[in-house]
Amino acid sequence: MKLTCIMCPVGCQLEVTKQGKEYVVTGNNCIRGERYGKEEVTAPKRILTTLIQTHKGVLPVKTTSPIPKEKIMEANRLISKMNIAEGKSGDIVVSNILGTGADVVITGDYVVYDL
Ligand code: SF4
Repeated sequence: MKLTCIMCPVGCQLEVTKQGKEYVVTGNNCIRGERYGKEEVTAPKRILTTLIQTHKGVLPVKTTSPIPKEKIMEANRLISKMNIAEGKSGDIVVSNILGTGADVVITGDYVVYDL
């Protein structure tokens, strides 16, 4: 499997192959690329970034660490149904979302739409 490493802006072109029971990663310039390549073919994860409704407007949020890719849609649905009173950057709005170990935190100020 060919992949682009997303762990830093260099974007090394990785190739992940299975050799026996092991996955071997080539094309990486550092150990993070090897870890990313193996994880991507066995248990891919992503940081979720989205918006949350509050009584005062919309705030940007993200997970504090990557969560399993197959839980991204469910987590996004859960957050989209929430409506909190208010919040500020750094506040945790969901702890341990879907049992992933990641919290959902507010990352910025109210979003203003310029329509
Ligand atoms: S392998 Fe290392 S240097 Fe290459 S993109 Fe990934 S993190 Fe960056």
